[in-house]
Amino acid sequence: MRLEAKGLSVSIRDRSLVSDASLHIAGGELVGLIGPNGAGKSTLLRALLGIREKSAGDIQLDGQDFLAMSGRERASAVAFLPQERRVEWRLPAYDIVMLGRYPHQVGFGGPTPEDRAAVERALDAVDGHSLRDRPVAVLSGGERTRILLARALAVESPILLVDEPIAALDPYHQLHVMEILRERARDGAGVLAVIHHLALAERFMDRLILMDASRIVAEGAPIEVLTAERLAAVYRIAGSPPQRIPAA
Ligand code: ADP
Ligand code: MG
Repeated sequence: MRLEAKGLSVSIRDRSLVSDASLHIAGGELVGLIGPNGAGKSTLLRALLGIREKSAGDIQLDGQDFLAMSGRERASAVAFLPQERRVEWRLPAYDIVMLGRYPHQVGFGGPTPEDRAAVERALDAVDGHSLRDRPVAVLSGGERTRILLARALAVESPILLVDEPIAALDPYHQLHVMEILRERARDGAGVLAVIHHLALAERFMDRLILMDASRIVAEGAPIEVLTAERLAAVYRIAGSPPQRIPAA
């Protein structure tokens, strides 16, 4: 599948949070969305999902008007890990991951064996079996991130949008999650991930989209996007582009 936005803008009062953004995510690719704090990355993801109202633009899933689809259709086609990890429910982690199956459930029959199998696969993917019975509210920040990522993975959707999936993770789990995202793309999903870790972005991503001050300012292969000039201009980092880090 292919999710595509053209001329997407989000503004609030007279302030532009996303200006005229055009991008696509196609099945089989892992795309990184990078840019400094406040650039508009999370707002762009939310606008793509229709959670955040756009002021202009067009969003299509395989050529169809995405926002005209039913909530269930949208939720089963495009899964989302929000940047905000607060969880209000006092549910065990397992039940949180099962929420990812909601778009697939019809009527009041409860989870099917297929739903349960998808939850097991998602818990496997995030190394989350030891967390499954613990109330999600008492998990550490990194553990909660992994469980919420598992919820998004459990949807087993053709498109996956994840907002800072490796923030708060220890180095082992950062690499592990990058490998999971890579694997999802290899299995045919289109994955868009907001990421601040530029060395991991360079190593794992097929393509990077760089945002600065509400606009997409560069897009392309990681080595084309992460030039010293851009890092200086956008991130105010002097010096050379990130060194390639050795394979684990
Ligand atoms: P990023 O994810 O790139 O760090 P965000 O998309 O979260 O950035 O935010 C982009 C800008 O929009 C920020 O300056 C933020 O303060 C502002 N912003 C986000 N939501 C709102 C809102 N509801 N009202 C006003 N400003 C907002
Ligand atoms: Mg953000």
